[in-house]
Order: sequence, then C-alpha cells, then structure tokens
Amino acid sequence: MNTGGLEESKNKSELDQSYRDRVSTVTEKGKRNWVFAEKPKGKFYTLRNYFSFAYFIAFFSIPLIKVNGMPFLMLNFPEGKFIIFSKIFWPQDFIIFAVGMITAIVFVVLFTVIYGRLFCGWVCPQTVFMEMLFRKIEWWIEGSYTQQQKLNKAPWNTEKILKRGGKHVTFFLLSFLIANTFLAYILGIDGLLKVIHEPFSEHLLLFFGLLFFTFLFYCVFAFVREIVCTTICPYGRLQGVMFDKDTMQVAYDYKRGEPRAKISAQLSTAGDCIDCHKCVHVCPTGIDIRNGIQMECVGCTACIDACDEVMVKIKKPVGLILYASENHISKGHKFHFNNRMKAYSILLIILTIFMTVLIASRHSIDTYISRVKGQLYQELPENKLSNLFNAKIINKTNKDVAIELRLENIAGEIKMVSQHQLHLKKEALNQLTFFIILDKKEIHKRNTELKIGIYQNGAKIQTINSTFLGPFM
Ligand code: SF4
Ligand code: SF4
Repeated sequence: MNTGGLEESKNKSELDQSYRDRVSTVTEKGKRNWVFAEKPKGKFYTLRNYFSFAYFIAFFSIPLIKVNGMPFLMLNFPEGKFIIFSKIFWPQDFIIFAVGMITAIVFVVLFTVIYGRLFCGWVCPQTVFMEMLFRKIEWWIEGSYTQQQKLNKAPWNTEKILKRGGKHVTFFLLSFLIANTFLAYILGIDGLLKVIHEPFSEHLLLFFGLLFFTFLFYCVFAFVREIVCTTICPYGRLQGVMFDKDTMQVAYDYKRGEPRAKISAQLSTAGDCIDCHKCVHVCPTGIDIRNGIQMECVGCTACIDACDEVMVKIKKPVGLILYASENHISKGHKFHFNNRMKAYSILLIILTIFMTVLIASRHSIDTYISRVKGQLYQELPENKLSNLFNAKIINKTNKDVAIELRLENIAGEIKMVSQHQLHLKKEALNQLTFFIILDKKEIHKRNTELKIGIYQNGAKIQTINSTFLGPFM
C-alpha cells in the first residue's frame, strides 16, 4: 500500500496502522469482514447510473443485433470464428487479433498511467454489474446498509428467510440471464435459439457449460464480490507498477483534511475532515481512503460523493476527497503529460494506424495458390505444357460466391478439374485444383512468373503470384 505523503502531515500515533497488515475485508482472526456498503448519492453516482444504464442496454442487446444477416458481434472461441462489426475474422486473421490485443493492452496501460483505476470502477463488468445491479437489488430487498447489518445478526425468522431467499433467487436468475447472454456472444443469437429449441440431449455439453457459468456468476456476485477486485484480478495487482505521482486517482486531500477532528471538537487548528466515516461506509471494498492510495481502491468515486455531501452540510468547500494526482495534492501541481505518458501515446498511435491498415487491407475472400508438390510439367499436344495447381480459398462472407480465375501477365489457359469448385461455399475453406496450360513459346526459363487474378462479378478482388515450372533451358 502506498500512503503518499500522508504520514508527514499527521501525527503518526493518531493513525490506525492495522490496514497495513491485512486487507480491509479480512478480520484480525483471518475471517471475512463482510462489506455492507451504504448507497452513495451525488453527481458521480448519478453519472454512473446513466452510464451503467447504457452499459446494460448495450450488453444485453448487442448479441441481438444483425447487419445484413450477420451478427454484429460473435466470439466463437471453440470454432475459432469471430465476427466483429459484422465482418468475419478467421484464425488466418491472427495478425489482426495479435495487433488488436497489443493495442488494447497499451491502451489499458496508458489509461491506467493517466487515469488510475477508473476503468475498474466505471467500465469493468465485475464492478458495473456488482455495484449497479446486484448491490441495488440487495438494497431494494434487504434495505439500507444498517438494516442489512441488523438482518445479518438477526435469527433465521420468517423475515430473514424471505429476504435472503428472495435475494438469492433473484441473483441466481440474473446470473442465468447473464450466462445466456454470454452464450449468445459465443454462438450468436441464432445458435442460442437453436440450442433452446432442439432436444436437450443434443446439447448436453453446452447445457452443463451454461449451468457452470450461471453458478460462477452467482457465486461471484452473491459471495466473492469485492475479493475479485482486491485479491483475484491480475490487472488490480499491476496498479502498483503503473501508477506514478502524476497519475490521477481518487485521493484524500490530507493537507486540507488533517488533523481530523469530530465536528463537536473542531478547533481553528483542525483540518476539514470531521471523521464522520461516511467515505468508509459507502466504499464497496471497505477501505478508508484517508489512509492514502490503496490497491483495494477501484476508483468508483463513491467516497467523493459521500464526502462532498458532508462538506456541503458543514459549509466547507467540496473536494476534500477528489480525483487528482499525488503531485496535485502535495505540491499543487496541475495535471501534466509526463514523458512516460507521451511515450505510451506515441506507441498507441502507431499501433492504431497499423491496426487500421491491417483491417482496411483485409480481404473477405482470401486465396492461397501453390503448385502441387512433387509434380513436374506435363507435355501436351500442340506444343503446350501444363502444371497442376492447388488453391485454398477462404470465403469469409456469409454468402456463397462465384469466382473466376484469370492469367494476368501471360497468354495461357486455366482449366479447372471441376467447374463446381468455382462456387465458393459461405464461411468455409474451399479447395480448388486446376491446370495452367501455356504455349512453349511463352516459356523462356525454368520458372516462369505467373500472376493469377481472382474475379468476383467481373471485378478483380485479389492477385496471387506463383510460378510455372518448365523444362531446363
Ligand atoms: S476508496 Fe473511494 S473510490 Fe476507492 S473503492 Fe472506496 S469508495 Fe470507491
Ligand atoms: S467523508 Fe469526508 S469528512 Fe467524513 S470522514 Fe471521510 S473524508 Fe472525513
């Protein structure tokens, strides 16, 4: 844990240093310290409400969207088939995925270096679903955080059974809905509907997969909760190496807040913090942000709202807990773009341009042509020679496509072994075998260069280079 310059500004003996020894959600005896979070209210929480609303609409509706009969997004990992923005990507497009992955990692690192853990609090599905859906259901069924604490201590009476039972049934049904949506991202909505309508015995594996993910989501949102962010998530563990003193983060202005004192004991020498613990009560990871920047902080901004509300009530300026860098708080420096941020930004721009070029130059029909191995040329009547070729053509579109092959740089003939092969099946790898027949007078060396044009509806879509094997000259 990093406490920044907090220690300098306050009397160390006043500090409860136990947060250094264990995470806030574990008691001294090593037991789970359950977080009963208070419902925040304020401008950041209102913004998160709007944002999460749009987020849920997008999450549940994207698998339903189709463009020209193609899913807008489908990530079928088991079959190695991916549809992004209604374009099919195959394992052969691996380079695009690799560059896309690197670009995403650089983006996340750059984002973290500048904006801290804001991604965790505002974008990560774990936090958005936990805080903006499951936690809200919990408040709705079990009441405020104090009522939840009372219910927790209460014996198992009718009220407790009904409330706890209602909550867990709702959580389970929601988890089932989320697991189905995930399945729709993998199979596409048509694939999911097919599984639903066909006999259960034909899709046993998928059914058990669905049950597994339902239980997984249910356990995560009902029991594991903030432990995912504070202990399990590797991105969370990496924060320490990505933060510097210019990184923006949710932070307590210890210069202004300390020495803290209860409102009844406020003296002219006291800081602005009235030690009301409102910021701790709303924290979904159960930490006290006044102890300094901690890895458990997911940057949800709930404590900013809570403290601002207190400041308004006691007629002090808001922003005792604020979104700022350590240098801003300790030295009053405004945000500036440091060298590390500049380097990451340049790298990100280069990767984005490279990625754009790769996607723009990607063919929806990809052809690989090679001469059949181990075969020499064949002598034909009328002073002609032939070579046998194989072509592998991936039709990445969702329609059958008719194509034509033409020799571009030399007079000669392309003779298909079967004309049917020129009708490419949709979303499939099509294999073609054909002869190229040349006049001997066109051949002046052992290997003659060939350019083979691939045409669709009379328009050239690709040119492939190959060679024609002739006799020694
Ligand atoms: S300290 Fe504040 S920003 Fe960080 S997790 Fe807790 S409430 Fe959210
Ligand atoms: S909410 Fe603000 S005033 Fe209250 S304890 Fe937290 S920092 Fe201090």
